[in-house]
Amino acid sequence: MSRTSIEWSELVWNLILGCSKFSPGCANCYAIREVARERCEAHEGLAIPKPVRNWTGLIRFVPARLSEPLRRTKPTKWFVNSLSDFFHEAIPIEWQIAGLEVMRMADWHIFQILTKREDELHRLLNGDLKEYADLPNIMWGVSVEDRKFGLPRIDALRTTPARIRWLSIEPLLEDLGDINLEGIHWVVVGGESGPTARPMKEEWVWPLKEQCEAAGVPFFFKQWGGTNKKQTGRLLGGRTCDECLPIEEVA
Ligand code: SF4
Repeated sequence: MSRTSIEWSELVWNLILGCSKFSPGCANCYAIREVARERCEAHEGLAIPKPVRNWTGLIRFVPARLSEPLRRTKPTKWFVNSLSDFFHEAIPIEWQIAGLEVMRMADWHIFQILTKREDELHRLLNGDLKEYADLPNIMWGVSVEDRKFGLPRIDALRTTPARIRWLSIEPLLEDLGDINLEGIHWVVVGGESGPTARPMKEEWVWPLKEQCEAAGVPFFFKQWGGTNKKQTGRLLGGRTCDECLPIEEVA
């Protein structure tokens, strides 16, 4: 486990490492370099090749990390698999079940799962993983970066039996227009950060906040992003918007 600077979580639980690019939101995936770095460190300080722009195709399970949440007694929010996609098509269901069983046992924690693979999410939560969909300590989320790829993910999530559903609208790449927030419990919005970050316009953000307010959905503004995210900060209209999901109301 490791601490995370992600504002909406506390610790990351990277049980699975590796992924492949899937949609425009993946273009500047930070996880590629992180996984390369971990692999080099594990191999006696091998230098990380520069630049690292794509995945190797290797996806691996780290069984030694399976018990991490069970060993932590303090109730904590965990971002599950920040260096992979829990619903990647190459991940065997046994790995997913192993992780979900730990989440079921460690019911004093909250687990935040996020995917771009809405078809797999929909198939598995309506099928082989259905028994986990209703757990009160798992938040099932989809990433939404644009209209073409992102909006169908919201519909796919809505039509699963997930008890707690959330959206990570990051990196926001265009105006999303009207979005259907029915059955959605929490929305996070943010811009891309890093040396090749794509810009996010303020006029794309306000309509999302307004739609959340109208629908009674908590809205969390994560960051403006850009090449210097410390400088751009995370104020919207001069204040932070850190509405968190009152999980006990949903659960
Ligand atoms: S799904 Fe996530 S981890 Fe996988 S390539 Fe895309 S951004 Fe990276």
